[in-house]
Amino acid sequence: MAGELIVVMRPEAAADETEAVLERIRMTGFGVHTTMVGERLLISVEAGGDTAELEEMLPQMDGVVRAVPVQSPYKLVAKEASDGPSAVPIGPTALIGGGHFGVIAGPCAVEDADQLFAAAEAVRRAGAVAMRGGAYKPRSSPYSFQGLGTQGLRLLAEAKARTGLAIVTEVLDPRHVEAVAAVADVLQVGARNMQNFALLREVGQGQRPVLLKRGMTATYEEWLMAAEYILAAGNPNVILCERGVRSFETYTRNMFDVAAIPVVHQLSHLPVIADPSHGAGRWRMVHPLALAAVAAGADGLLVEVHPNPARALSDGAQSLTPDNFSRLMAAVLTLRATLRGEQPALRQP
Ligand code: PEP
Ligand code: MN
Repeated sequence: MAGELIVVMRPEAAADETEAVLERIRMTGFGVHTTMVGERLLISVEAGGDTAELEEMLPQMDGVVRAVPVQSPYKLVAKEASDGPSAVPIGPTALIGGGHFGVIAGPCAVEDADQLFAAAEAVRRAGAVAMRGGAYKPRSSPYSFQGLGTQGLRLLAEAKARTGLAIVTEVLDPRHVEAVAAVADVLQVGARNMQNFALLREVGQGQRPVLLKRGMTATYEEWLMAAEYILAAGNPNVILCERGVRSFETYTRNMFDVAAIPVVHQLSHLPVIADPSHGAGRWRMVHPLALAAVAAGADGLLVEVHPNPARALSDGAQSLTPDNFSRLMAAVLTLRATLRGEQPALRQP
């Protein structure tokens, strides 16, 4: 059975203090598992019995902040495992989560240099913190455009050098993690791979932040358990992304679940962002759904933007033009200021 008790150590706990805590737990015969979450070591106790005595004892030991029973099957991503909401780095300067908001935008797929650089420049000017674009695309048909692969990664690296934007791009295959992580500031794990456990373990073994999309039919618990795989493998930097779920409706591509945002904030310390583009599959829906997500407390947005959506090789119907993206960014800024009860700040030219 999975652990029922999480022991949170002080960031400055000495190695012998940690060892004494582990020894005390082992005396009970229970298993232990350790993971770093940010600066802190978390000890997960795999209890086969009553943990009441440990709950009393452990907080008295040096180096221990607290010992909390966690009833949910996910432990490390549970809200109780952290002192507050986690902030995840997006490139060298930006953060998402823990009060930091950021927008990631760009085309569905990297198509060619002109398309990518035009999109990069447009999203940078409008105020995105990072650009997205798939070099490896998960397509329903093997005959559809699959992405440019390594050539796409090279173009992403060049877009990063030109604009200074952080790069978010999808990794489909555990064998590609190293090559994609060499270019990406954030590795996207797509909806179709949310329960690809080999891939989750692989991205969990590195320290590159991971954007974990909700699976097409995933419950909140399945989604959080997928994130737990990444944290349990040692990588604390996970951003969850709500992108809509399958439903009976055919007018929209997916049913965007705005409730996912407050639910994740209720259950976990991880940041959650919204992808209104895949959420509806139609560009006209992107603006209202993005604002709904911001109003619900999303820590950021992921938006598809193409310099010429009519010519896009994938997801043109849901991609915003640069002008429409700028309008959305202005509306997001105004809404966030209103939600904070402030006057909207004047935008930089
Ligand atoms: C994408 O972001 O382009 C994508 C394929 O998303 P999802 O995995 O949410 O379908
Ligand atoms: Mn797409």
